[in-house]
Amino acid sequence: MNSIQWKNGARCAVCLTFDVDGESLWHSRDPELGNRPIHNSMGAYGPKVGVPRILRLLNKYNLPACFFIVATTAKKWNEMTQSVIHAGHEIGYHGLDHEKPYLINNKRKEENCLIKALDIFKSEFDIIPVGARTPSCDPSKHTMSILEKHGFLYHSNLMDDDWPYYHECGLIELPTKWTLDDFIFFGYSGNPPFGHGIRDAESVYSIWLEEFEGVYEEGGYFNLMCHPQAIGQHHRIRMLERLVTHMSEKGDVWFTTPKEVAKVFSEQNKFSKK
Ligand SMILES: [Zn+2]
Repeated sequence: MNSIQWKNGARCAVCLTFDVDGESLWHSRDPELGNRPIHNSMGAYGPKVGVPRILRLLNKYNLPACFFIVATTAKKWNEMTQSVIHAGHEIGYHGLDHEKPYLINNKRKEENCLIKALDIFKSEFDIIPVGARTPSCDPSKHTMSILEKHGFLYHSNLMDDDWPYYHECGLIELPTKWTLDDFIFFGYSGNPPFGHGIRDAESVYSIWLEEFEGVYEEGGYFNLMCHPQAIGQHHRIRMLERLVTHMSEKGDVWFTTPKEVAKVFSEQNKFSKK
């Protein structure tokens, strides 16, 4: 079995991550949805209500987190982005406008999106992200080498392991899974139909709790993938609060950011080209 020695003698690591899509989640799915007030309003709920509510929760328990923010959303919701930065959380890359690299299917175009997004983060916020989560979990065969070329340390999307590992180019993968994605359970659009119906938060709590208990037992890392427009609603954020309280009560859980997990992994597992 894999093992990583976590910081401060912790038994396992927990990353709370939030993909801040805003309206781009909907118009990247179908440009026509960008003309629909209801979809724009559902998207806006994330930066407008969800993120401030998440920041209050994190502040209450003094927890670090990572926000993978779509570059156009970061720019449009400038104050929201500033508030995340001001609170000291990690900022990661999540596309220029939530485009899916697999569907772009063109290395140059994909790289241009990244360059434009990095320009926005540098010019607007003086930030250089080192971590990436591909929009809609849909990277292309070029994604990893493009990220590595532009100085990224890790990517966090693939689902073939519970442990970090190296891609061939040397980029670290921090895997996640659909069961740790809130949008799978809570994402919904009536017309056009989208999602699997709205799940009650209690059932999602039981899934996340048991995933965490398994991670705790094996000494691994728990990589929760949430979306402020979904998790930000009262009954869901209250469920998340119960979950982090349970984790904290263990007393030996390291709440950290994906960037720190990638660093610890790389310190203990040197990359060698095959
Ligand atoms: Zn997204």
